[in-house]
Amino acid sequence: MTTAMPLLKEREKQVYEKGKGEFNLKCDAKSTAGAVSQRACVFCGSRVVLYPVADAMHLVHGSIGCASYTWDIRGSVSSGPELHRLCFSTDLREHDVIHGGEKKLARSLRELVPLHKPRAVFVYSTCIVGVIGDDVEAVCRKATEDLGIPVIPVQSEGFNGTKKDGYKVACKALATLVGTDNETPVSDISINILGEFNLAGEAWVIEDYYKRMGVEVVSILTGDGRVDKIRKSHRAALNVVQCSGSLTYLAEEMKEKYGIPYIRVSYFGIEDVSKALYDVAGFFQEKNPEVMERTMELVREEVGRIQPQMAQYREKLEGKKAAIYVGGAFKTFSLLKILRTLGVDVVMVGSQTGNKKDYELLESMCDPGTVIVDDSNPMEMSQFVIEKDADLFIGGVKERPMAFKLGVGFCDHNHERKTALAGFEGTLNFAKEVSASALSPVWRFSPRRAGKLRFEGENNE
Ligand code: SF4
Repeated sequence: MTTAMPLLKEREKQVYEKGKGEFNLKCDAKSTAGAVSQRACVFCGSRVVLYPVADAMHLVHGSIGCASYTWDIRGSVSSGPELHRLCFSTDLREHDVIHGGEKKLARSLRELVPLHKPRAVFVYSTCIVGVIGDDVEAVCRKATEDLGIPVIPVQSEGFNGTKKDGYKVACKALATLVGTDNETPVSDISINILGEFNLAGEAWVIEDYYKRMGVEVVSILTGDGRVDKIRKSHRAALNVVQCSGSLTYLAEEMKEKYGIPYIRVSYFGIEDVSKALYDVAGFFQEKNPEVMERTMELVREEVGRIQPQMAQYREKLEGKKAAIYVGGAFKTFSLLKILRTLGVDVVMVGSQTGNKKDYELLESMCDPGTVIVDDSNPMEMSQFVIEKDADLFIGGVKERPMAFKLGVGFCDHNHERKTALAGFEGTLNFAKEVSASALSPVWRFSPRRAGKLRFEGENNE
């Protein structure tokens, strides 16, 4: 595409403006060296998926920087234990790099497990462990025997792919727990919620809907996660997968191994939350038609409650322009729909890890002129925000400073958010945040946007 700022040649095929030429976006590729990708490493990918398991110990085998980089990386609130919020590391030094870190890892496990009494331990391999070739699996096997709890290796050497590969590694680690409890009774009308990380209490909002519908939630992977619940999760009737980029690998494996079907859903926005609940109710229709009746009642009640306030936000936001850049592409579909409901035009949208199918759907949903980007970087995104004159950026922690420097509103839809944005209540919270940020009077002091935002009768000079 043509922009005032020339793109790196290697990046040209990962950027497209709807309506300009044939759509054939390059994606699912390694990041271009020197392009300053927003993507994180394999270790970080596995860490964000496993982190919310609150009664497990998370031991980072590597140099201390990897541990501090991911310490308390997401909100992921817990209704009970908070062991996940402590960050443990073997703190490998030069001596360990030369002589190997296996003994130090075994020693750390022997010391830490009796002290903190976790229900399981996840041991993450980082870059340096891959380089020196520690046999982490063997150390974990021995520790499992000696300590009497699952000590699970997470083969997440940072250089070994992208963040997305970290999701697969995390699913592999979770799969070693799934299927290890065949005793605890589980209802026929039951599900697991996959890909919900309870960043700001969303898992509780969604779990409450299912309770009201009469559906048992066996396990949430991994928000407010518990080892014992994961162990019996293979006996649920259905897997309901959100954030499909991260947990689909586990859903696939559970389908193959235990015959549990799965559906993909989103809990963002009135349309998608309602559809998610109806899809689950539809699955149990034959076994228990009352689930559908209760779901209809729930949706009617919740939509009726938030609709009038959503209409008020729409009045204020009509005609504003937004840019979106998030980790997984699935979230972009819901965000496009919610913003449309609020009268906001999406002028740029992209993701770190979308695949061909995701982008084809995304392109079909966008208006002409919308810029679609894969694996973008701050320089490119800043340029598009300026060229398209966006009023608001929706992204994660890495996009926040960029948005504020450009003088546009920002809504955190990622790790660091403190307000639940899922479910009906979350949709209303989202509208409130978007409105507060995009319409904040502070932007009148932004030199770039001063003219645009000048208030009647005011002089910005
Ligand atoms: S695993 Fe490697 S890339 Fe990831 S934080 Fe550690 S050193 Fe950096």
